Amino acid sequence: AQEWERFETWSAGSGEHNKRASQSLPLGVTSSFQHWDPYPISVASARGAWLTDVDGNRMLDLSMGFGAMLVGHLNPTVVAAVTEALTETGTLFVTPSPQATEMSERFCQRFQLDMIRFTNSGTESLMYAIRCARAYTGRKAIVKVEGGYHGGYDGLQISVKPGLDEIGPADAPTPQVPFDVEAGTVHVVAYNDLGQLTRVLEEHGAEIAAFVVEPVIENLSIVVPDAGYLAAVRELCDEHGVVLIFDEVKTGLTAGAAGAAQRLGVKPDLITLAKSIGGGLPLAAFGGRREVMEVVVDGRMAHFGTYNGNPLVMAAAKAVDEICTPEALAEAEAVNIRALQAIDAIIDEYELPAHTVGLGVKGCVTWSTTPVRNYRDYKATDFRLAELSWLWGVNRGILTPPGLDEQWLVSLVTTDEDMSTLVEDFRSLAQALRA
Ligand code: PLP
Repeated sequence: AQEWERFETWSAGSGEHNKRASQSLPLGVTSSFQHWDPYPISVASARGAWLTDVDGNRMLDLSMGFGAMLVGHLNPTVVAAVTEALTETGTLFVTPSPQATEMSERFCQRFQLDMIRFTNSGTESLMYAIRCARAYTGRKAIVKVEGGYHGGYDGLQISVKPGLDEIGPADAPTPQVPFDVEAGTVHVVAYNDLGQLTRVLEEHGAEIAAFVVEPVIENLSIVVPDAGYLAAVRELCDEHGVVLIFDEVKTGLTAGAAGAAQRLGVKPDLITLAKSIGGGLPLAAFGGRREVMEVVVDGRMAHFGTYNGNPLVMAAAKAVDEICTPEALAEAEAVNIRALQAIDAIIDEYELPAHTVGLGVKGCVTWSTTPVRNYRDYKATDFRLAELSWLWGVNRGILTPPGLDEQWLVSLVTTDEDMSTLVEDFRSLAQALRA
């Protein structure tokens, strides 16, 4: 309660702003994930790794646009490339362009894809990847993991972080089917559970087009695959002719220079990309095996979009591609590892019921003493401590992502010094908890 009082003192302008915004924007936000109670912080501007809110508070941004700002706010290389497109080249042709072709080649090379198509959001990419898998297999159903979030497409609004009273028995999770999704066309399995996936594929394999999964789940803090899990998933999908879709919207460049799939050594049939690849502009993509993507060539499916691959976002993407060398990403990852180690030491010293999880340039504190392997483990973590930890940070000028399902991002411009403010903030929380 004390921390919430403190919150409302320094962020009064954000409170007022939310009141005004709520008149014309539902909840006063432009995406439901931007909202939290009593109101979200409204940001006026950002530069590098820092934000300024509408009250004039300067905050360390460890949310970084849910990972989209991997190269930092107002990155000069991105700004120069986008300015050139805006002032010299043009922003939209709705024709093929050398810019889009060059970026398709660069992405195919980086992520080891045969073919790729650009979209404007992760949601669209998931929708089209599933359409692609359905066209390729001639099957309708899909499998997803319990609790998993993959954007706003109706067909994936199933078992998205459901309440414990809605989810059914652990060995047979219940899908909650929204009104316009045909019952029986979405199967839900626990992540890291090969038994459940095997059973679903054995019973329904002939009707299943795709298994959609984040290779490392980054919508439930960070949940990593058990050793051998993804390789076994790959084999099961092959056995049943099911298209394996890795949703790399969140992992992407933040998991390593070539994404999580390559880092973990398992090749999906399709991947979806968004966020980190666009330098803050709305760029997303889906791509993968030629044989699967060729459903767009032979007319089994079409893929549309006025703004797809426009020269403005392609300019930003090329700048990001040039900035995000393996060396640059490795340096940011080293900053992240040092911060994770420092926080681990504090957890040990103060015997906190928590552990850290990191992947690439992302990290989080999970408030549980045992590893989280799936959604039900995640639901058993201590949400009160997670909320306090978020609030403690934001009250002291550190903005980690809103919501308790997210992780921090060490951008390419976030320094050891920046991360030491997170570490020291965490130490002060540990001291307060133990006092
Ligand atoms: N897939 C995953 C794993 C996501 O985390 C998100 C968004 O957070 C999406 C898809 C949807 O992406 P977008 O918000 O660009 O539509």
